[in-house]
Amino acid sequence: MSNLFTLEETPSLEIIGLQPRFPVRRIYCVGRNYAAHAREMGADPEREPPFFFSKPASALVANHGAVEYPSLTRELHYEVELVVALGKPASEIPPEDAAECIYGYAVGIDLTRRDLQAEAKKLSRPWDTAKGFDQSAPVSGIVPISDCGYLSKGEISLRVDGEQRQHGDLAQMIWSVEEVIAELSRYFRLYPGDLIFTGTPAGVGEVCRGEVLEGIIEGVGRLVTTIQ
Ligand code: MN
Repeated sequence: MSNLFTLEETPSLEIIGLQPRFPVRRIYCVGRNYAAHAREMGADPEREPPFFFSKPASALVANHGAVEYPSLTRELHYEVELVVALGKPASEIPPEDAAECIYGYAVGIDLTRRDLQAEAKKLSRPWDTAKGFDQSAPVSGIVPISDCGYLSKGEISLRVDGEQRQHGDLAQMIWSVEEVIAELSRYFRLYPGDLIFTGTPAGVGEVCRGEVLEGIIEGVGRLVTTIQ
């Protein structure tokens, strides 16, 4: 009788300029952390603070990888985001101490089945099928803090087949990276290997089969993903 399960390697990311890879434990995500994006989704950022959801670590796709167009959607959306990689544990950490937990940064795209998300919102159902599907988390290599320093501003943008669709600045985040870590650490014990998608600027939209997504963050790098 064959084995029921095949053991797979721990999902991991390249660390730019270093040999060892970064083993990924959990992927947390922040919703509506840029006011302009909250408004384009029909929310009022003055009244509704950002919030959290998650994706499985197995949803990671390495830089220059291809994503198979997911099933059961007709509206696959891109959301370019700064991804924070944690190097130290944190539980109920104050924002002023949160920077110590940051190992480095990467560029990520939070791929979303927008039609399924709209349906889930309407029916007050969870977002897993809209956000946590296979290959829903393309992420670039990680730039360690020792190479890039702490980031509080910098251009963030996304292009589809070379044409700019999303544009913003990290300084526009409603919760700073440190505030995100502090707030998240009230809900979960955070550990080295955790990634946090910190939210997307305005301009989210649809991507079709055959198109190439390019996410760029000043001081962090460039992520390229092809949708098949
Ligand atoms: Mn997002």
